[in-house]
Amino acid sequence: MSSLKIYQQKRKFNQTPEPKGKIKKTNLNRFVVHEHWATHHHYDFRLELDGVLKSWAIPKEIPQKTGIKRLAVQVEDHPIEYINFEGIIPEGNYGAGKVKIWDKGKFEILERSQRAIKFILSGKKLKGRYILYKFKNKNWLIFKENDSSW
Ligand code: MN
Repeated sequence: MSSLKIYQQKRKFNQTPEPKGKIKKTNLNRFVVHEHWATHHHYDFRLELDGVLKSWAIPKEIPQKTGIKRLAVQVEDHPIEYINFEGIIPEGNYGAGKVKIWDKGKFEILERSQRAIKFILSGKKLKGRYILYKFKNKNWLIFKENDSSW
């Protein structure tokens, strides 16, 4: 179920340059990774799904090779418009700090369940088969799969 309610509740749109947005069934299969210099530097991985950007905050860089698993904490759905967002969220606002696009491109879903999303990324930096695997509540792992292991 998609909702932008939490996203919109967390933000003051008269202060932040972030888009207010609405649910849009675009189905363009895009992904973006934002690098975010908030209180703690992290990456935000977002997949265009169900009319929103399904989003995960990843404390460390997303692996570009196999054998590395990273924690990915699911965060509130973001509006599709956020896919092009870059800028500075002002002090005193949710997520205050600089946001820059670290990578973007297309993805193809291979499998999707409550527990796991398997997909192929075609970005500049991230390419190949990836898995997001849910292990507890909002905690997921993201890792790259060997093409040959499928
Ligand atoms: Mn963030």
